[in-house]
Amino acid sequence: MLYRSTRGEEKGISSSEAMLKGIASDGGLYVPDNIYFNNIKFEDLVSMDYKELTCFILEKYFTDFGKEELLECIHKAYDCKFDDKDIVPLIESCGVHFMELYHGPTLAFKDMALTILPHLLKKAVSKINLKKHLVILTATSGDTGKAALEAFADVEGTKIIVFFPQNGVSEIQKLQMITQEGTNTCVIGIEGNFDDAQNGVKDILNNRDFMEKLDKASYMLSSANSINIGRLIPQVVYYIYGYLNLLKNNKIEIGEKINVVVPTGNFGNILAAYYAKKMGLPIARLICASNENNVLYDFINKGTYNRKRELKLTSSPSMDILVSSNLERLLYEISGRDAGIVKGLMKKLEMEGEYEITEAMIRELKDFYSEYASEKETSEAIGKVYRNSGYIIDTHTAVAYSVYEKYVVKTGDNTKTIIASTASPFKFAGTVCSSVGIDIEGFSDFEMIKRLSKATEINIPSAIKILKSKSVIHRNTCRKNNMKLEVEKFLGM
Ligand SMILES: *Cc1c(COP(=O)(O)O)cnc(C)c1O
Repeated sequence: MLYRSTRGEEKGISSSEAMLKGIASDGGLYVPDNIYFNNIKFEDLVSMDYKELTCFILEKYFTDFGKEELLECIHKAYDCKFDDKDIVPLIESCGVHFMELYHGPTLAFKDMALTILPHLLKKAVSKINLKKHLVILTATSGDTGKAALEAFADVEGTKIIVFFPQNGVSEIQKLQMITQEGTNTCVIGIEGNFDDAQNGVKDILNNRDFMEKLDKASYMLSSANSINIGRLIPQVVYYIYGYLNLLKNNKIEIGEKINVVVPTGNFGNILAAYYAKKMGLPIARLICASNENNVLYDFINKGTYNRKRELKLTSSPSMDILVSSNLERLLYEISGRDAGIVKGLMKKLEMEGEYEITEAMIRELKDFYSEYASEKETSEAIGKVYRNSGYIIDTHTAVAYSVYEKYVVKTGDNTKTIIASTASPFKFAGTVCSSVGIDIEGFSDFEMIKRLSKATEINIPSAIKILKSKSVIHRNTCRKNNMKLEVEKFLGM
């Protein structure tokens, strides 16, 4: 399988090169030459465990890796760092199946791909015989940063730099990052929002002069953001795994279609579900759930993308995004893989802040459905699920649940449904507590977590418990236009 840029200037790129570069030199994103597989018999895969299934899928996309190499990466990724032996358990509650993607080391779904990415990158480096230090640049809306730090800390031959919006992440998310150990790690709070951080990272990666300067200093920059194809593909796996779980437990019949609801920000997670569908997995509807930053809701319902609005800080901070990077990959597919169209739209987004897609492209969106949940609805969803079933969900998953309820009311569709459950409720204990009626007035985050644990009789995840005893290591902050300078400083240039 070879990769190409969504903006047309690069073709015939190997998967290892696409992963190492992160973003194409024309500013586009790498996509596989083919995402349609019409010969996979999914029912034959039901007996596979998560690792076996991952190997089966990755072998199809990362063809320049040998099976042994892939297996080595997979075993290093999905090990005891996950606190559930199934890696991705599926919990039936309130008439839907919650696919818990948060059992990894940082308690959010980003771990699903970020635990394997460094191992893939290390192999990729040796494949192209790169004699350079790999520098991973990451912008985060809260969860990617910690997952990437955890993944790359003290990995030989790498350095990792994370930029996060200083006032745009939860207390626990922030603590997780600024207490990160590892001599190769650098964490910087920026005065700006996630879009600023992501734009800054993209600008640095697209700055050819700077890349040359780094090259001379024996550094190569890459990104751990979901624009990296090495993150997208491992995410395809759990949709298939979730489907097979339903099949194995006789919840559905062979070939029966399901719906999938995904709380969406940068469009990476739901894009992976779209890829799974294109691979032939029986998915009927892809339901894109937004919070009050509802750009994607407008896009899917009206065909216009407009980022010219105020970014709201919500209780689901990892979805507080106005420019969803991975949407570019969807535009590529729904335009019939027309790089010219994609390039034009992206240019328009950059210059004018908005674009409109053609009628033909809108028709290609027919498998998508989108709604959004207000802050109030999000909180109500947490309370409702808890009261009805004793099951506790985080704020992001609650956005998805709330949207799912609206979808059912509107369409009457009772297709079996998987909701991507993206974070541990303990990461957002404040909102979760107040939503289920636990009094938190005047309590610290750790006290709220304790109260949540007591009320729900769920143990506090150890990744959160240990935060309390850790000291703050990273105190740097910077302006949004000084990100490049910070990179130079950290690399001693
Ligand atoms: C990142 C994140 C999301 C959004 O996922 P995208 O791939 O950016 O659409 C949703 N929930 C949580 C908890 C996240 O960390």
